[in-house]
Amino acid sequence: MLNDDRDFRRALERASAWVARYFEDVADLPVLSRSRPGEIAARLPAAMPEEGESFDALLDDFESIVLPGITHWNHPRFFAYFAITGSEPGILGELLSAALNVNAMLWRTSPAATEIEETALRWLRRALGIPERFFGVVYDTASVSGLHALAAARESLDLDIRNRGASGRDLPALRVYCTEQTHSHVEKDAILLGIGRENVVKVPTDDAFRMDPRALAQLLGEDRAAGHLPMCVAATIGTTSTTSIDPVPEIARICKEANVWLHVDAAYAGPAAIVPELACLMDGVEHADSLVVNPHKWMFVPVDLSVLYTPHEELLRRAFSLVPAYLETPESDVRNYMDYGVQLGRRFRGLKLWFVLRSYGRRRLIELLRGHVAMAQALAGWIEAEPDFEILAPHPLSVVCFRHVPPRLRNDRAALDAHNAALAERVNSTGFAFISTTRLRGATTLRVAIGNARTSERDVRETWELIAKSAHEG
Ligand SMILES: *Cc1c(COP(=O)(O)O)cnc(C)c1O
Repeated sequence: MLNDDRDFRRALERASAWVARYFEDVADLPVLSRSRPGEIAARLPAAMPEEGESFDALLDDFESIVLPGITHWNHPRFFAYFAITGSEPGILGELLSAALNVNAMLWRTSPAATEIEETALRWLRRALGIPERFFGVVYDTASVSGLHALAAARESLDLDIRNRGASGRDLPALRVYCTEQTHSHVEKDAILLGIGRENVVKVPTDDAFRMDPRALAQLLGEDRAAGHLPMCVAATIGTTSTTSIDPVPEIARICKEANVWLHVDAAYAGPAAIVPELACLMDGVEHADSLVVNPHKWMFVPVDLSVLYTPHEELLRRAFSLVPAYLETPESDVRNYMDYGVQLGRRFRGLKLWFVLRSYGRRRLIELLRGHVAMAQALAGWIEAEPDFEILAPHPLSVVCFRHVPPRLRNDRAALDAHNAALAERVNSTGFAFISTTRLRGATTLRVAIGNARTSERDVRETWELIAKSAHEG
């Protein structure tokens, strides 16, 4: 039990010592958990204890049962999906906000939570070159940020779906445009908003996996002619598989002409706009109606924290504001963040973002992100120098997509796919590094994503050497 001050202080000291040691030792742990399905659950008691247990017992089980079932996202050789960082200032922000246990639904339920969120989002907006007129709000994930953006887009159609719903009435099909490279949440959000998967139109992409603006314009025209109602174009800056960058300025022009909401998903790549030579990533964003950036992806903020920026604050509020009597407040000149989304209760996420921005500072963030891009470019160079490997997509940022093509398999697509999938598994089973795979134009692709604050070029080089060596063992 931990309800006495002395016990809690001791437990806190043990926990903080554990966290500090974890960072010292994490590089020696297997990155990908070796746990088999059900193995962790089988070691846990079937029911909760009748009497409370000591924190020492909890921490012992945390080490012996939980830790083997952890895939270490904070490991310097975690290169799968998108590498992220639960940074030291971010962890401390989480700890302190947990202690306060604030529910930041209304300004008055903790003025500091609202005002720090506003301030940190203003800092971030300026650092990324997003126009001042964009209002920001924190949600948990890009998937949920995107959902709110699409809901605001729907509200902008003035069909009064908020009140009358989208069923039991005569409405045209609302259409959303993206590409087959767009993150899957756009389709999920369309499901949830009653738009339906069939009305998510996949615009063709070019050789570099970017949306083809001419095809978009044509599809918009055809849909209008067919009586559909184009609602939103979802462009991506830094797609999930390859980090391709849709031509946002051209797409924005088309959206303006067609009077369609432009949503820009920069969940991963957005933070990189803080690097001066990458500020061009945000080209065209000034024309967006909504923009998503995930500081929990490439800005060292612990999961979760995603930001939606929009120049249409009032529209977003109109889409979601609904104030029951028990939440009315006397203040009229404050922002109540509950008005901007589905959820009422909100965590004090702004604190960890504010801590990260302050603790690193702009200069260090630029150095780290620039370093990640440089490591990815070095890796691409090593891959290119190996005759039996090929790069499968442009790599403008910190992700490289490639595969091993042994001459004997060159003309056998199925065998090449199996060979590369097996290669990834061989690398991952060593525990030394964790890489993931994707499919590009049908081909199984190895994917290395660099983004952890502790990753060094040596980590990347040794992982590449492991991949190259494992390629010849299959
Ligand atoms: C990772 C990613 C997402 C989803 O992020 P969550 O915060 O996990 O929902 C959305 N869009 C892009 C481009 C991504 O890379």
